[in-house]
This record gives sequence, C-alpha cells and structure tokens, in this order.
Amino acid sequence: MKVLLVLYDAGSHAKDEPKLLGCTENELGIRDWLESQGHTLVTTSSKDGADSVLDKEIVDADVVITTPFHPGYINKERIDKAKKLKICITAGVGSDHVDLDAANARDIAVLEVTGSNVQSVAEHVIMTMLVLVRNFVPAHEQIISGGWDVAAVAKDSYDLEGKVIGTVGGGRIGQRVLKRCKPFDPMEMLYYDYQAMPADVEKEIGCRRVESLEEMLSLCDVVTINCPLHASTKGLFNKELISHMKDGAWLVNTARGAICVTEDIVEALESGKIRGYGGDVWFPQPAPKDHPWRTMRNKYGGGNAMTPHISGTSIDAQGRYAEGTKKILEVFFSGKQDYRPQDIICINGHYGTKAYGDDKEHKEHQLK
Ligand code: NAD
Repeated sequence: MKVLLVLYDAGSHAKDEPKLLGCTENELGIRDWLESQGHTLVTTSSKDGADSVLDKEIVDADVVITTPFHPGYINKERIDKAKKLKICITAGVGSDHVDLDAANARDIAVLEVTGSNVQSVAEHVIMTMLVLVRNFVPAHEQIISGGWDVAAVAKDSYDLEGKVIGTVGGGRIGQRVLKRCKPFDPMEMLYYDYQAMPADVEKEIGCRRVESLEEMLSLCDVVTINCPLHASTKGLFNKELISHMKDGAWLVNTARGAICVTEDIVEALESGKIRGYGGDVWFPQPAPKDHPWRTMRNKYGGGNAMTPHISGTSIDAQGRYAEGTKKILEVFFSGKQDYRPQDIICINGHYGTKAYGDDKEHKEHQLK
C-alpha cells in the first residue's frame, strides 16, 4: 500500500534530537517498519497549493497521515481525487483539517491518537494563563533589552488565585486544565459543554457546569477554549460572543485558531475588552508573516502570549503520537478494524465520536 505522510521539515534540528519524530527527516520512525512489509512511504512537507507534493501524491495513496502542527488540509477536492484513499490518520489530536463529512460520504476512515498530547496541551494552557495574568512577556522583553521598569509591568500584573476560570469544552484537555488550576485556589471553576462530565469527575475537580456559554463567559476572569473545531465552533468567538465576556478578562485558545475571528480578537485586545490573548493555534498554518496575532498588543504593550503550534508536540508527546500512529496502521493493515474506540473519528460512513458537533445532522450520523 502507498502511505503518504505530511510533516514539517526540521532540518538540522532533526539530527540534534532523533526523538523529534514528527518531522519529514525522522518520519515518525515508521519507514523501515513499513518498507519491511512491502509498503511504500512518501513523506513531504509540501502541502499547500495545487502544485504541492500532497496534491500530486494523494491521487493514488491508500493512507494519508497528517498532523495538526503542519496540517495537510484534506478538503473535499483532495478527497475527490484520492480514489484509492481508505484511511486518514491524524498523528496527534484534532482532525478538523480533514473534511469529515466528505470522508464519511466516501467511507474513508478517520482515526487519531486520542489522548496522546492532552497533558502537553494542558500544561501549555496553564503556562499561557500565568504568562498573561502575571504579565510575563513585557517583563522578559525589558530584561532582554537592558531595561528595568517595575511599575510598567506591575500595573497590568495580577494573581491567578481568587479568579474565576472557565473552559469551553470539558473533555480530556478541559478536565486536565481545570485539575491543574485547582492548586492555584481559584474562586470558582466552570465549564460549558453539551456533554456533561461524569458526576464523580466534576466532584473530584471541583467544577460546575454552566448551561449557557454567554452566562459562563460573563462570570469568568480567565477563559480557556478546549473544544474541537467544527461547523458550530468555527468563528464562535466573534465580536458578539466576546461582548458577553467580563471586561479585562484573559482568553487562552490552544484548540484551533479558526474558533476565534481574527480581527475581532485584535479589536477586543486593543480596545481593552480583553486584557490578553494567548495560545498556539492559527488559521491557516503556518501563520502568514503578517498575521495580526503575531504583533497585537493591549494598551499597555502586553497581552500577547502567542507561540507557533507547539503545545501538543513536545518530545514526550511525539513519542506517544508516533507509537499510536503505528498501532492504528497495524490494525488497518490487519483488516480487522478493531481500533481503540476512542481513536475513531469516522468509520463506515459515520462519526465514531460525539465531540464534533451536537446538531441534528451530526447526531443522525453518529455510531449508535
Ligand atoms: P475531547 O474530545 O476529549 O473533548 C472535547 C470536548 O469538547 C467534548 O467534551 C465535546 O463535547 C466538547 N465540545 C464540542 N463542541 C463543543 C461546543 N460547541 N461547545 C462546548 N464544548 C464542545 O478532546 P480533547 O482531547 O480535549 O481535545 C480538544 C481539542 O483540542 C481537539 O479537538 C483539538 O482541536 C485541540 N488540541 C490542540 C492541540 C494543540 O497542540 N494545540 C493538541 C491536542 C488537541
């Protein structure tokens, strides 16, 4: 079978660290294993535009493996011309870069390595909250540039203790974020999700479910977005929804860039509606050089805690999603289809997860 693998290029970094598996040079460590079984592996970072290697090679690929970090967008047009495609595997978590409805229509399975980097993302969220709330970036910039102005930083620096923290999405990452917030003694921890957490998990974390997103946002000092990108979360954080947030709140988004409307975030930050925005996800990726989230700042010159898409691709996470990808391939090649249930996004023309939408259409197309 032909396996097409889309990853970022690492250049000399791949040699510096052989455990940097998620790059074109180290190929998730699967080349020898695949070739020993008679399969062909084509690896590329060229993924955008009609002349890309992805566009050329997908035509006769049986398997496509992509990551959210350097997403090969498997849209309907590409699915239509990939006549032999049987499975899309996401080496990581979050398969929104695949047109899931188009995959279902063609009975193409979509699998991901569920849970492989949820701890990595949760840690990044906690870091980003602290970086924003404590106003770390301007303080660090002062030090690098030879400055020393305590007041300039202190006037926009707060404590996480005593704040109300809320997550949009109370799944694997949302739960881990709240668990990690607990030792900071927040005033309250809230979540909004159409799927309630099990009662014992809610109790263990010490959080409360809020039925309306607008209501939750009106109560939170810090909001963290941890739901997938799908039809009803695309552009969810627009000017209207942001207007329900507390004035001067902080917003952390490590879920997907397109959940937030780019210009509305910039406007909210510059006007002071929100005090800070941080995260690691963008649309498109790689982010263009002139993407306004690179340089936006609040009125005091801070409030920006953006990074490239790194939260879920620590070296530890890469080991886990490389191993998980190999396991999915093993099941696929065996023909048994007995995947880990939690890894299934789409199978046999249906959604195998409830996380990609709660509308009628999704419910009808979910596995019973
Ligand atoms: P999960 O499936 O365990 O949890 C997602 C939760 O979001 C589910 O409980 C679902 O019901 C909920 N949800 C869906 N739509 C919602 C909506 N409209 N409003 C509120 N809640 C909604 O997934 P997870 O492992 O926690 O990952 C969540 C997302 O985080 C992924 O889909 C991916 O987009 C993102 N992610 C990012 C990185 C990164 O490196 N930045 C890494 C992993 C995952």
